[in-house]
Amino acid sequence: MFIAVASGKGGTGKTTIATSLALAVKEKYEVQYIDCDVEEPNGHIFLKPEFTYKESVTVQIPWINLSMCDFCGRCAEICAFHALVALPGNVLFFTELCHSCGGCMYFCPKKAISPAEQEIGWIEGGLADGIDFIQGRLKIGVAVSPPLIQAVKNKRLSGAAVIADVSPGTSCPVIKAVEGADFCILVTESTPFGLHDLELAFGMIQKLKVPGGVVINRSDGKDEDVERFCKEKGIPLLMKFPFSRDIAVNYAKGLPLLAIKPQWKEKLIALWEKCERMGRN
Ligand code: SF4
Ligand code: SF4
Repeated sequence: MFIAVASGKGGTGKTTIATSLALAVKEKYEVQYIDCDVEEPNGHIFLKPEFTYKESVTVQIPWINLSMCDFCGRCAEICAFHALVALPGNVLFFTELCHSCGGCMYFCPKKAISPAEQEIGWIEGGLADGIDFIQGRLKIGVAVSPPLIQAVKNKRLSGAAVIADVSPGTSCPVIKAVEGADFCILVTESTPFGLHDLELAFGMIQKLKVPGGVVINRSDGKDEDVERFCKEKGIPLLMKFPFSRDIAVNYAKGLPLLAIKPQWKEKLIALWEKCERMGRN
């Protein structure tokens, strides 16, 4: 079972929910936590894994042999990402725009372009109190993260309860992390911004055909707007976590939710089982 924990909006407590779920469920299942928020992975702050390996992740970028090139400009024409500019006597390549599609190599009439490897980041892994922990970390200055997210997802253990922490928002990295999930938990908060971004996140999982449900975090009891939205769209409201000053203070110290509220363990296991029942498997 592969469950993605996402949120349309940043700062809703998505990582709090994802790490707590992993800690609660590990009592019953083999659990793997994959941090797909590769630009800012922070699950490790709460789960404190002991890293035992690190692997480089590379993508293919074009290398142009100018001695074979006649500066026809075909490569620049076909590059949808404007990563190539052909000038009389030179071809400029902007690596941060390249999506490694290979089109320029395929279409170059002079076969002047060959693939070169470029490192975009790393995968680090180890154990965190019995949880198999994997995270991706994007190299500073690299703009295209989906290939690294895919490399993290390729490490999923079959048969394990896999929990993916996904970056906030609904952009390409989020889509790459959520696609193929058996279920997606959308973490939100009961504010107008929270609801707006929840609507976008719900639209995304619908497009991806991933079943999902909503968790309201830091509820102050005034959740009518989110409740109405869930009812109108037929999306289950899975659980509410009440606002707690204790949690906020200890979160800032890097303590996971269950260290502060151990009595929530059974509720979190019940949340996992609900997702399992409603999920694709
Ligand atoms: S398509 Fe090939 S030959 Fe034409 S400008 Fe690009 S690299 Fe040079
Ligand atoms: S590999 Fe694709 S994205 Fe990169 S420069 Fe070539 S055509 Fe553009």
